[in-house]
Amino acid sequence: MNLHISQDFTVKYEYPVIFTNGVFNPENNSFRNVVEHAGKQRHRVLVIVDSGVLAVHPELEVQVPTYFSKHNDIMLQAGDLFVVPGGEIAKQDFQIINQIYQLIADQAICRHSFVVVIGGGAVIDAVGYAVATAHRGVRLIRMPTTVLAQNDAALGVKNAINLNQRKNFIGTFSSPWAVISDYDFLETLDARDKRAGMAEAIKVALIRDRNFFDFLYEQREALARFEKKPLQTLINQCAKLHLEHIATGGDPFENGSARPLDFGHWLAHKLEELSQNELRHGEAVAIGIAVDSHYSYQLGWISADELNKILELLNTLGFNLNTPFLKQVKTEMALDEFRQHLGGQLTITLIKGIGQSQEVDHIDTAVMQKSLQTITAL
Ligand code: NAD
Repeated sequence: MNLHISQDFTVKYEYPVIFTNGVFNPENNSFRNVVEHAGKQRHRVLVIVDSGVLAVHPELEVQVPTYFSKHNDIMLQAGDLFVVPGGEIAKQDFQIINQIYQLIADQAICRHSFVVVIGGGAVIDAVGYAVATAHRGVRLIRMPTTVLAQNDAALGVKNAINLNQRKNFIGTFSSPWAVISDYDFLETLDARDKRAGMAEAIKVALIRDRNFFDFLYEQREALARFEKKPLQTLINQCAKLHLEHIATGGDPFENGSARPLDFGHWLAHKLEELSQNELRHGEAVAIGIAVDSHYSYQLGWISADELNKILELLNTLGFNLNTPFLKQVKTEMALDEFRQHLGGQLTITLIKGIGQSQEVDHIDTAVMQKSLQTITAL
């Protein structure tokens, strides 16, 4: 007997994304409020921290337990802070995932408990993966500590670890309970990481928001000095645009083959690989933006004046656009690899005027080669 039932249900996803200062100041209720949202009873909370963050913020060892003791009507601290190696190593070593599973088991963390992860995008991705798969998902509160993690990596529904050198090969889509970004963490970030995080803001401004691009261009000198106010505006607006895309773009779990936000990314992926991760993701994205903007200019889609503004912004912020790795790019092969990465259909996002994206399914290799050569010669 044949039977065909068409199963159909919808799940609503909702989580707060909060920007604050001094998150573990006992007077700051942001963290308390998001936990309390699950009910006024006491909850088990496990805190996992990036080793690179703890090294420069040793005060967390005292601040976190103090915060918990001041709010002990709703929280229970499960032992000391658990430390995970900072940076890409967190995503490389499955032992770390095993340790987190063991910790969740040992500390009796259940689906209704909380795990808090404090760190850069890599630690957030790795802990997020472990937390999403333990008990089929424990509540996760992300506290991102880098520019990139606050304006992009920690906001969405993806987490992943690497399989050998294959980046983000293993992962899940799962939404956090909350995201709380404390700007104060950024003070200790080195200049390279602060700058790299700004590339995603330029990218999203170019494809979505002309006024935001104008702001970045006008504030370029202040941003190059990492002045707090414009940097915070950059992070906030970039975060808003990313969140808006996830909520309204129609494909939050990336079932389609287009990646509308991946402007400049086909080349960025290749450059990261060629440099064996010597280039930060944001540094590679900045070069990808420069090349794909030049290609858009060659198509007549942006003016010479617009192209010059984009290049001037990238240069003023201190991005090095003519990396030697550009000369090693085999355009046709790199585009073909990107096509495979997208699932078989090539979709490249370009810009048609600043603030407006346009997807194409074909790239003229000779024209692209000229863009690569022009940026290399700058
Ligand atoms: P990162 O996590 O690799 O951190 C870089 C270094 O900075 C590390 O050594 C870390 O210990 C240190 N660090 C972190 N915060 C610090 C602070 N406040 N002060 C001093 N040092 C600090 O870098 P990232 O740029 O935040 O993240 C990159 C990762 O994010 C990549 O693995 C990428 O794949 C991932 N990512 C994920 C998504 C997603 O949607 N899940 C999106 C974009 C990027």
